[in-house]
Amino acid sequence: MSDTHRLKEDCDLRRLVAQDLGPAPLHGGRAHLWKCPFHHERKGYSLAVWPDGYRCFGSCDTQGDALDWLRQYRHLSFADALLVLGEPQPELPPAEHSHLKGASEPPEWEWQERAARVVSLAEDTLWSAEGEPALNYLLERGLTTATIRAARLGYIPGDFREWRALEGLDVPCGITIPWFAADALWAVKVRRAYGDPKYVHIPGGSAHGLFNADALNNHRVALFCEGEFDTLVVQQEAGNLVAPVTLGSATARMTARWYSALIGQQRIFVAYDRDEAGKKATERLLRLSPRFRELRVPNGKDITEFYLNGGDVYAWVEEALSTETKGRYINEYR
Ligand SMILES: [Zn+2]
Repeated sequence: MSDTHRLKEDCDLRRLVAQDLGPAPLHGGRAHLWKCPFHHERKGYSLAVWPDGYRCFGSCDTQGDALDWLRQYRHLSFADALLVLGEPQPELPPAEHSHLKGASEPPEWEWQERAARVVSLAEDTLWSAEGEPALNYLLERGLTTATIRAARLGYIPGDFREWRALEGLDVPCGITIPWFAADALWAVKVRRAYGDPKYVHIPGGSAHGLFNADALNNHRVALFCEGEFDTLVVQQEAGNLVAPVTLGSATARMTARWYSALIGQQRIFVAYDRDEAGKKATERLLRLSPRFRELRVPNGKDITEFYLNGGDVYAWVEEALSTETKGRYINEYR
């Protein structure tokens, strides 16, 4: 291995960048995020820096390794850059405050195992005679049986005020919606037939998941929906165009973990409900990065209502992609 190579390997680029730009405003896993200095970014945090490289996911697409950084940002000669790489770098300072909640972890493994068994049980029930009313409800919301199966929705029968003791967990009765993402089960939300609140979690789950987050791996455009059923409608109708995801409600906040999962997305549409809560939540997301953009449903209060009124979800999403980007993302992606 050459000396240059070894110097680069020994260097944690995040420390070098912190010397130049100050402590990282955001951390997401191994990536630390800054405002990109190469395109004088004002609104977002598009510069992602890993121990061994950096890349701007904003408008300039600048990227490189530690040597590139020293030459591009500090304008050092190759020889001087090598000298800097050989110097010891100071420890990383802690992250500053930001609009995001801190990093989030999935629930402990034992909870996940128990909850996964509840999900399977509820799934079996949904497709049995006992589950018929719940299945009919889901079909009336515009979901196909393929969508319902893929999302692994299920049903715990019983009065809406009842809770069942299953697998050592307290489980509310109603339609179960599992939040699988990144090889973990983050939460199981239950939609009850009546009652307030209508949606309750099986206790012990995390409130900081991102529903359908795995779809982000296959796409460069994401679409934030307000709830799970809207997300599933978009997945069903336009899942080959965008990755629909949801934080679960208008009041749920994004964590640095999911923000960093979004760095590969070139555009992130936000199609929340057309009401006051949806508007506030949209503004909060739009403040995070200029890549976020509001996308209004053409009619109806939300995506499901638009769809049930005969709206063409595929055409709506496709049009948004083509007007926003003049077809760039579609051509690049599928
Ligand atoms: Zn940039």
